[in-house]
Amino acid sequence: ATPTALLVGTGRGAQMGVLIKGPEILEATRGVDTVVLDKTGTVTTGTMSLADVVPADGVDRDELLRLAGAVENASEHPIARAIADGAAAAVGALPGVESFANVEGKGVQGVVDGTAVVVGRETLLADWSQYLTDDLAARKRELEGQGRSVVAVAADGRVLGLVSVADKVKPTSAEAIAQFRNLGLTPVLLTGDNTAVAEQIAGEVGIEKVFAKVMPADKVDVVARLQAEGRVVAMVGDGINDAAALAQADLGLAMGTGTDVAIEAADITLVRGDLRSAADAIRLSRRTLSTIK
Ligand code: ADP
Ligand code: MG
Repeated sequence: ATPTALLVGTGRGAQMGVLIKGPEILEATRGVDTVVLDKTGTVTTGTMSLADVVPADGVDRDELLRLAGAVENASEHPIARAIADGAAAAVGALPGVESFANVEGKGVQGVVDGTAVVVGRETLLADWSQYLTDDLAARKRELEGQGRSVVAVAADGRVLGLVSVADKVKPTSAEAIAQFRNLGLTPVLLTGDNTAVAEQIAGEVGIEKVFAKVMPADKVDVVARLQAEGRVVAMVGDGINDAAALAQADLGLAMGTGTDVAIEAADITLVRGDLRSAADAIRLSRRTLSTIK
């Protein structure tokens, strides 16, 4: 039989916007000492907007936006939405795309008006033997230093330029991270994004330990490695790419504003998508468990 205190605890959680899948989950919070945080959509709003457009020499800015926007228009990724919406606002209706493919954790590709277009990380362009010029590589580093997520665009065997998007830290994230520290938990940032952007966001919210450029399938390994070091890990995430890590963690918390896949994989749903609710959940569990023994 479940102790009444646990049932009362889950009920209190529901009132606070912390949906706990079952009373036994509260036990899983015992000993948690590390909170791994996904970046996009968890620490940040995940609502990005188009920031910079950097055409390569001799490339028309609108043509760069039109091709990049057309391919991204077929993707749901926050970076894709920002580029497609920003491009449509700048150049008008976007052409359709054929043979669209999403390359998980790297970018997108497709055929627009008979032209093969690739949009994404440098590693994706390298798969197509496309490399940034020194000039573009320098601009990319500069923009990343300003916290922008920069993706490259190539079409028909040449690099057309760079497009960047900017995300914003949620106004409550820094306070949530301070609360984790007060609870004796070490915050860790985990993201597929590049090191410069990850460090910039981490600095803004007060996180020191950062894992960047982690491929979606490898997020789970980072959690497992921390556990192998003897840490008891809570993971907070929102994306499809966080689901395996949420399941692997000793305690998985999904943003209620995130994907269904993440919510299903997690033990707890934070209805409001506010990171402070994760601290509320840990505090509630500790209080509940302490009334039992
Ligand atoms: P996160 O872990 O921050 O949620 P992802 O694992 O989804 O990020 O993506 C990792 C990186 O792959 C992104 O930062 C971006 O550089 C690239 N990428 C992923 N999807 C796209 C896309 N649709 N268009 C351009 N780049 C993309
Ligand atoms: Mg995410």
